[in-house]
Amino acid sequence: MKKRVGDLMVAIHYKPNCGRHDRDVKNVPVRECPYYLSIVQEDESIHERYVAVAKSSSSNYLKETRYTYGSLMRLAFSLAKDGYRDEKGAKEPMKVYRESNLLHDGHHRAAVLLALHGPEYLVDVVELDEEVPIHEHRCE
Ligand SMILES: [Zn+2]
Repeated sequence: MKKRVGDLMVAIHYKPNCGRHDRDVKNVPVRECPYYLSIVQEDESIHERYVAVAKSSSSNYLKETRYTYGSLMRLAFSLAKDGYRDEKGAKEPMKVYRESNLLHDGHHRAAVLLALHGPEYLVDVVELDEEVPIHEHRCE
């Protein structure tokens, strides 16, 4: 199916302001995700601060830590030059949880595509038969 990249959501790590917890996860639109913000604001420090929070939050973050600001920029250049209809996009469409706009993977690609093309850009996504995780920080 196709979805507007501006409607897609991602789960991000963050530090709540409750004074009781150092970290949590929340679902935000791609336009609020640190990868997107670091691209459009051309600010590597946004990316680095986020990676530091994410690394401290998640034991299975290893998969994502291979992504540096540099590799995010390379992905951006590659998608700008060759477009989304490249081999990777065709072979591995982004995945969302069942009946949701929350990305299961493709977070970096979504951030780049939103930065390049704006919210109306349509992307192919595959819906997983997996329930969407609810992230609620009850202190706030
Ligand atoms: Zn809390």
